[in-house]
Amino acid sequence: MATVMKNSQLKSVPELHSGRACNFGAGPAMLPTEVMMQAQAELMDWQGSGMSVMEISHRSEAFMTIAEQAETDLRELLQIPGNYKVLFLQGGATSQFAMVPLNLLRGKTSADYLHTGMWSQKAIKEASKFCKVNVALSIENNRFTSIPSPDSWQLNPDSAFVYYTGNETVHGVEFQTIPEVGDVPLVTDMTSNLLSRPLDVSRYGVIFAGAQKNLGPSGLVVVIIREDLIGHAGKRIPSMYDYAVHAREHSMFNTPPTFAWYVTGLVLQWVKRTGGIREMERRAIRRSEKLYQFIDASGFYHNPVAAECRSRMNVPFFLTHEGLNQTFIKEAEAHGLTALAGHRNVGGMRASIYNAMPEEGVDRLIEFMGGFEKRYG
Ligand SMILES: *Cc1c(COP(=O)(O)O)cnc(C)c1O
Repeated sequence: MATVMKNSQLKSVPELHSGRACNFGAGPAMLPTEVMMQAQAELMDWQGSGMSVMEISHRSEAFMTIAEQAETDLRELLQIPGNYKVLFLQGGATSQFAMVPLNLLRGKTSADYLHTGMWSQKAIKEASKFCKVNVALSIENNRFTSIPSPDSWQLNPDSAFVYYTGNETVHGVEFQTIPEVGDVPLVTDMTSNLLSRPLDVSRYGVIFAGAQKNLGPSGLVVVIIREDLIGHAGKRIPSMYDYAVHAREHSMFNTPPTFAWYVTGLVLQWVKRTGGIREMERRAIRRSEKLYQFIDASGFYHNPVAAECRSRMNVPFFLTHEGLNQTFIKEAEAHGLTALAGHRNVGGMRASIYNAMPEEGVDRLIEFMGGFEKRYG
């Protein structure tokens, strides 16, 4: 008894399904309701196979179909050029903090890093084990609130690569344009904003993203890498950390996270039938502008990030009366608005509004924030 959900059936699923929280968590994050329902419908019996995707071999024809379709859809959505490999790996985005320097140094000894928040800080710390890190830009002194123009960055033309974090999930700082770095390969961590804006992949050496923010469940990291950057890891690098091994084996050197790969595939299909990257971007702009406009107009809430580098995906905000933080979180929870507490390093609040967050969720948040201000302001 195969339960295959048709696109027409999926389209009629309300985005904020009753009984589902309006989840503002940074990750693992909310997934589209349509995707959750499709995964549920197919859970016991994937397309008449009598088995769950969880239960089938990664080398089976069925899983190969799932795996290949996900890659094809990602390539189509991001218009990934033919000279790039797409890898579906484990170890999260954090594994890439080591994998990038281990594979990309190619005989050089240093790499440039842009320090724009907590995630680039972690990448710098890890890379420092393997190479000399040149911090070409640090915005720590403005408390991660603005990115000065590239003329002030101290890029070293002899660096093996330039690394930056496309969207700083904790501090809510996002690059709105691709940094111009000449011929040095550009590497970016887009864990929290991949698929939310059009992207010229050809400007990059490596793009990677942990899946659990905008792509699917945790356990999977997607790596898009230019072919000429593959095959330069030293002989003593563990196989699991060598891009060449994974590229050669089509991400099946060992058992990949099959279920996460499958659900990510469902998300990619959802993005496609919803209107693709342009539509994701249009929605992200609407959601984030609404929220920032509300925060800026209020004297009760504030966001410290400069307008030109504010994140469309993660909106940190602070209550003028910090003593009300716990009350805010508790009452929001009671309104079905969950996981609004800011990152422990930053405090305050943070609304993560990824692709799966319907605009209605932001409307509800704003309505709640307005009411809270009336009651306590
Ligand atoms: C969440 C996040 C990570 C860490 O991802 P893991 O999969 O937990 O390793 C890295 N970079 C950014 C920008 C993130 O948002």
